[in-house]
Amino acid sequence: MNGLHYVGSESGRRYEIEQSRWIGDGGELLDLCEFAKPLNREALTDRPKTMWRYQEVLPPLNAGPVSLGEGLTPLVPVSIDRPRLLAKVDYLMPTLSFKDRGAVMLAAVARALGAERLVADSSGNAGAAIAAYAARAGIRCEIFVPGATSRKKVAQIEAHGARVIIAGTREDAGAAARRAAVDGIFYASHVYNPFFFQGTKTYVFEIWEQLGGRLPDVLVLPVGNGTLVLGVHLGCQELLRFGLVDRIPRIVAVQAEACSPLTQAFQQRWPEAKPVRNLGTRAEGIAIAAPPRHKQILKAVRSMEGQIVAVPDEALEESQRALSQSGLYVEITSAVNYAVLRVHAHLFHESDVVVIPLCGAGLKSA
Ligand SMILES: *Cc1c(COP(=O)(O)O)cnc(C)c1O
Repeated sequence: MNGLHYVGSESGRRYEIEQSRWIGDGGELLDLCEFAKPLNREALTDRPKTMWRYQEVLPPLNAGPVSLGEGLTPLVPVSIDRPRLLAKVDYLMPTLSFKDRGAVMLAAVARALGAERLVADSSGNAGAAIAAYAARAGIRCEIFVPGATSRKKVAQIEAHGARVIIAGTREDAGAAARRAAVDGIFYASHVYNPFFFQGTKTYVFEIWEQLGGRLPDVLVLPVGNGTLVLGVHLGCQELLRFGLVDRIPRIVAVQAEACSPLTQAFQQRWPEAKPVRNLGTRAEGIAIAAPPRHKQILKAVRSMEGQIVAVPDEALEESQRALSQSGLYVEITSAVNYAVLRVHAHLFHESDVVVIPLCGAGLKSA
């Protein structure tokens, strides 16, 4: 497909991009081959005001027809009195979460492969994003969600004409989607399909451009399945490789304490995470007990000299309220990105320019 192919994450083997291919032989994860070409800032002036302006580093897909104008979200100070603490307002995406960055890629790939049906599993936001872009692409869509998913997210998915199947835990939803992804049905997985990270990497290209060709000192990133962390890692590597930055930010990746397998592995210096039991958190968007890309996430955070930390649920409501009182209304999951500033204050210095992502809109979980 357009000169692209998948690469086995363990074997380095080449796999064709086909409708039924979502995992390698023997169960290895798939990455995408390298294809990005150098980009320069001057060339961006006349480009569309969407994430598609970084065309050199994006896969050569004809995504135009499925695009909803996603990307180039505002970067604004969290409050008037804290000019160095910036919020990237990704809840202003077409489906009100940052997942649109990756979902548009999956819909474009599915369309290029001639898929007529797709399935996906999600705690809610990825499902809503994939349902919207599948509708746009004219592809029938089924989304598997855990029982605890916010009713508003389920309603949003259904509004796009997708069928919602409620399936126990987040892990049950994943297993059910993979059983449903039989021949002829595209598995639009934001976790397994590496095209998704090609979309989420635009998050860091936008910040770089919005800061005048620079990256901040610290990037706070939520981490459940790691789609934003892995996208940011890819993006930072490309910015370095093309000489557009000379250093990358410190990463502070955040989990909810009640479901924090990556925090545990990071702190124990393990190369891989052990599955945990979700003890119950209101941060449903990051409550991933057994993230399939755990090894890659740990490696990526370590290679960026980052940290993975956890915040307790007790800190969430107050953080959500503090953001709201500054005019920024986020869903409760996104409150972790602000809570971490207080709970792990020692990771941040007074002089740091820090960017926190506001990943999902308040109305999704209210
Ligand atoms: C998906 C999501 C996340 C976390 O993304 P992962 O890819 O699971 O790491 C964080 N916040 C919100 C609101 C989300 O929807």
